[in-house]
Amino acid sequence: MSYLVDYHIHTTFSDGKDTYPAYLANARKKDLAEIGFSDHITLASVDWCVDEIDFPVMRENLKNLCDEFSEDVQVRFGLELDYFPDKEEEIRQVIAYFPVDYVIGSVHFLNNWNFDTDRSLYGKWSNDELYKQYFELVQMAAKSGLFDIIGHFDLIKKFNCWPETDQSQLIENTLKVIKEANTVIELNTSGIDRECGEFFPNQKILETAASIGIPITLGSDAHAPNHVARHFDLALKKLKEAGYTRIVRFRNRQRGEIII
Ligand SMILES: [Zn+2]
Ligand SMILES: [Zn+2]
Repeated sequence: MSYLVDYHIHTTFSDGKDTYPAYLANARKKDLAEIGFSDHITLASVDWCVDEIDFPVMRENLKNLCDEFSEDVQVRFGLELDYFPDKEEEIRQVIAYFPVDYVIGSVHFLNNWNFDTDRSLYGKWSNDELYKQYFELVQMAAKSGLFDIIGHFDLIKKFNCWPETDQSQLIENTLKVIKEANTVIELNTSGIDRECGEFFPNQKILETAASIGIPITLGSDAHAPNHVARHFDLALKKLKEAGYTRIVRFRNRQRGEIII
């Protein structure tokens, strides 16, 4: 798999369990071409994101790492940023501060509810309503033009939250917005280890995304070194079955292609 990338990695700067060298060692073991660190930056008060006080440290460390390792595994500097519709300007400023290769835009909040860590509000509204709110935010995130990649496209299903009625039209509309916004999605392989038991996005959505022509990249959403490139054999198979023949790589927010 020496041609593949893993662009979704969390270290101790946010909520990951280890530091850069440990992830890099596993990226080597897995024979990856590139590893991209994408710690959480969240403009809200949560304990799982990079502290603002650490911004300069992270910036320096990553810059040095990118310069230092160029022979076997290439290091990329990414961020996973939470999308908040009322904070687009602040998000823009954060992105401008870091010399990033790519930015993943993710929706982890519905209003103030951090639905991917806090289970307490499930059941309060219909799941259809949650899908509606979630995908509207994903559409806004894509339209904002702030992000290179939309993170874990159908994250709302994480804790087995399935819609009561068919939401394929909403999902297709969201994919079309992403296409129009010229944004990339990721095949995030962590979903299979969650309660939902399938990749983000699932195969049906992957097929629709491929048929619409939305470019895709790969991420394990690693929170520990042994997560690096998890389930990538299966991911490759699923990508090909869905009709994908290439994935996207990034450098300085410019895209390249990798034939799979
Ligand atoms: Zn995320
Ligand atoms: Zn993540």
